[in-house]
Amino acid sequence: MRRAHRLLAGVLAAGALALTGCAQSVDPIERLGRKAAQKVEERRVSTATARRWGLDRPLAPAPKPPSKKPFAAAGPGLPAVVDHVPTKDKVVFLTFDDGAERDPRFVRMVKELKLPVSMFLTDRVVGPGYAHFGKLRSVGATVQNHTLDHPYLPGLSYEGQRWEICGQQEKLKERFGAQPRLFRPPYGEYNDDTLRAAADCGLSAMVLWRASMQIDDLRYADGSRLGPGDIVLAHFRGPAELKGASLTEMTARMLRKIQAQGYTVARLEDYL
Ligand SMILES: [Zn+2]
Repeated sequence: MRRAHRLLAGVLAAGALALTGCAQSVDPIERLGRKAAQKVEERRVSTATARRWGLDRPLAPAPKPPSKKPFAAAGPGLPAVVDHVPTKDKVVFLTFDDGAERDPRFVRMVKELKLPVSMFLTDRVVGPGYAHFGKLRSVGATVQNHTLDHPYLPGLSYEGQRWEICGQQEKLKERFGAQPRLFRPPYGEYNDDTLRAAADCGLSAMVLWRASMQIDDLRYADGSRLGPGDIVLAHFRGPAELKGASLTEMTARMLRKIQAQGYTVARLEDYL
C-alpha cells in the first residue's frame, strides 16, 4: 500500500491531493483502483535499469490502448492486413521474427525493461528451442505465427499455404496452449490464397511492417522517420549476423532510435 501511495504521488500533480494515510475515508488509491495502480507500477522502470541495458532513460509509459480496435478486414471473412496501426499516439510496435537466436540475456532485457514484444515464430527455425521462447512468453512477450518452414507463400498452392499456416497454428497451440491470432507471411509476401488460408486457420490479422531494424539503423518503407503506429520488424539474430553485436545490443540501438524520434513502444495485441 505504501509503495502504491508513493506511485500515486508521482502520478498526480504534486500538491493536488494531500495524502495523510490509509485511514483517510476517501482513499485515492481505492478510487484509482487496485488494478490501475498495479498497472502504473508495472510500467515503472528505473533509470538505472534502463542504463544497464544501454538506454539513457526508461521508455515513456505507453498510452492507454483504444477501447475499440481500429481495424477492418481485407474483405468478407478475410483477416485485416496491417503495416501500421491508425493512431495519433507516438507509439510503435516491436515484432521479432523467425526464432534463430536464443540469447538468455534477451529474456532478462524484456523482463527488466518491460518490453512489449510480439514474436513471430517459424517452426523450422525454432527447432528444439521452444523452451526459450516459452521463457520470453513468461516475461510478457507474445507468440504469433510465421509458418512451419518460412517458404515464399505465393509460390505455393492454397493447400500448401494452408498446411504451412494451419500447421504452425497447431504446433504453437500444442506448445503454448493458445492459438495465435496474428500472422506474418515470410518476406512480407502474400497473395489472395494467403489471406484465405490465414482466415481458414483462424487468424484475424496479417501483420506486415513499416520500419525494419538492420544492424545499426532503422530502414523505413516510406520516408525517413517513424510514424505514429508503425510496426517495426526485427529478427532474433546474434553476433554472427550482427557484425559481432548481440541481440540485446541491437535491441538497445533500436530502442534508442525510437526514443530519439520521440516515440515509445506499445503492445501490438492491444490494438489488433
Ligand atoms: Zn521471417
